[in-house]
Amino acid sequence: MNHFLLQPSHRFLKLKEFTQKLIKKCCSGDRVIDLLFHFPVSIQNRSGNIYDFSDKDKLTVVIRITDHKAPHHRASPYKVTGQTADGNIITIVYFNYHAAFIRKSLPLDGIFMVSGNAHRTTEGIQITHPDVIAPPSMLKYYIGAEPVYPLVARLTNRTLQYAINSLLKIMPEIPDWIPEEFINKYELATFTKAIKTIHSPKTSADILASNPARKRIAIDELLTSQIRLRQIRESMSKQQTVPFFPTNAIIQHLHLPFELTDDQLSCLEDIKRDFASPKPMNRLIQGDVGAGKTVVSFISMLIALENNSQATLLAPTEILAIQHFNTIKKMAENLKLNIDIMLSSNRKFRSQQIERLKKGETQILIGTHAILEHGIEFKNLGLIVIDEQHRFGVLQRLTLIKKCRYPNILTMSATPIPRTLLLGCYGDLDVSTMKCKPHGRKPIETVVISSSKIDNLIQKLKTINSKIYWVCPVIEESEDLMDINTRSEYLNKNFSPKDVFILHGKMKSKEKDNIINRFKNGEFKVLVSTTVIEVGVDIHDANVIVIEHAERFGLAQLHQLRGRVGRGNEASYCVLLYHYPLSTIGKQRLQLMKSTNDGFLLSEEDLKLRGAGDILGKEQSGFNALRFSDFSHNHRLIQMAEEISHDIELNSESVKFLCEIFSKLNDDVVA
Ligand code: ADP
Ligand code: MG
Repeated sequence: MNHFLLQPSHRFLKLKEFTQKLIKKCCSGDRVIDLLFHFPVSIQNRSGNIYDFSDKDKLTVVIRITDHKAPHHRASPYKVTGQTADGNIITIVYFNYHAAFIRKSLPLDGIFMVSGNAHRTTEGIQITHPDVIAPPSMLKYYIGAEPVYPLVARLTNRTLQYAINSLLKIMPEIPDWIPEEFINKYELATFTKAIKTIHSPKTSADILASNPARKRIAIDELLTSQIRLRQIRESMSKQQTVPFFPTNAIIQHLHLPFELTDDQLSCLEDIKRDFASPKPMNRLIQGDVGAGKTVVSFISMLIALENNSQATLLAPTEILAIQHFNTIKKMAENLKLNIDIMLSSNRKFRSQQIERLKKGETQILIGTHAILEHGIEFKNLGLIVIDEQHRFGVLQRLTLIKKCRYPNILTMSATPIPRTLLLGCYGDLDVSTMKCKPHGRKPIETVVISSSKIDNLIQKLKTINSKIYWVCPVIEESEDLMDINTRSEYLNKNFSPKDVFILHGKMKSKEKDNIINRFKNGEFKVLVSTTVIEVGVDIHDANVIVIEHAERFGLAQLHQLRGRVGRGNEASYCVLLYHYPLSTIGKQRLQLMKSTNDGFLLSEEDLKLRGAGDILGKEQSGFNALRFSDFSHNHRLIQMAEEISHDIELNSESVKFLCEIFSKLNDDVVA
């Protein structure tokens, strides 16, 4: 019966198909657990006392309908009056009404329970557009606090609340995976109790992450991630490794157009040491944007190849995978290597690709999640390179390791990650840091300007002879691309239409690739885009980036975006456009961007500022791996989860079940 939570919710909910679809969209899934994991964000109070209710409350009353007043003008409201048992007059007001419908729903002399936004007027109490009209016997259900859920268009809170409540009513007691001793020791709620409590908040304190029920779910999530890390460790230790040594057979033919920086060299020393040891490599290269991580990973791949192994490079987006493919192809020009690229969007030669991979003909495979798919097997994979690892879930890493003959993992990240977070996300791993940038780079000059000065900015940009990135945020919920379309039209008028092109995430991969190439080749001047260019896009002579609504982005993300420029030796500029008014913290954050180019410093400061109360969403901070907990703020919970994880049986049914509950949440990857 455990599996109740994993079944599709429509088995239990007799709702219209259309409503089911809305719920699925809203809860990002249609398993029972997806609905139960859709937590309320606030509460709505309904008061039953007409003498004492606050502006924030809704009012619930039982009245007898005494009169209907249709207005003379369509623009005036339709009014229905009623009387409470103790003789108080209540007026129900409808703007934009359907008179026949109202007459039918609230017939004269009928007795109804009505609930909605209320306020006092000189003529008594008015309820405008009541959200509930029901028989009086329903009164008890509409008094007190009710949860308010995040919604999608056309789905009402009431419907979602009904669906979730119906599921809660039939939810069996779930056998707990956290041993009782920990439940007692840390005073945790059981899983079943936690879920039930979260959906019946009584006060606004019940909504906070500090609420014990919410903490319990956060611990479950962290526990899942700990369990997966243990699985990775165990799976890696079971596989035998052989040491790799550089033979120089391939590398002697490598001619790079530049000297490696000291940091790049010392990173490579670390990697060689790992390779030489019989222990599997598990190393993270942390290096600021533009520090030159790709070439380090490429040389590491060559060492693996020199030891008769294959290597693979996994990137979070197609744009990035294609770019890595091109860069690496170019660096490998006279090395006579077989390098292949695998993308979900292009399956044309998949069976041949798989064949070559299995035979070991393909030496380096570059790609996206497509590489993780079932049926993709290597002959002797000896090195996995993962770019921007925080975008991949633990489960995906596990999948990859299983494809490995000799599991060596090298990950690259431009987002500096605090130590506790590292442990929580990745478990034990060694870190190499790249602080210095290649010689000759000029620091990027950052300016902060109000969007009201946009025309001055455009005039100035017209005189500059450089390619320009123009980034607009996309409001994801509304899936609205209006911002970027409106902006590009505006820029069209100011530059010329053949100089302005758009790039966004909803475009087909081929289309994106084409636009980026044309931009690279200098066929147009301004690339208006969403944050799809955020990670890794590498175009040397784009020296200006304009970021609109800079106040909406997290510092880490702004820094990533800014890292798109300053990749050549020309002076470069980052223009942060903000929309008035700017909060104090917003101002501080943009000032910080202006004052430093050091991504590590920025990330520390970001944490401090966020500690000060302006907690950014996970999207913004760059970590999408977790939903209910936050590695950077939940040290104590991480410790608890770690402790618990050592005390539970990895292969038990309940642990498998736990991992499955969280599987979808934590491994949905932003592409
Ligand atoms: P990131 O660390 O952000 O992934 P990349 O690997 O994309 O950075 O490198 C940024 C740019 O710097 C690339 O165009 C790369 O060719 C160049 N680069 C890398 N190493 C050096 C170096 N030692 N000297 C000069 N340019 C370099
Ligand atoms: Mg990179």
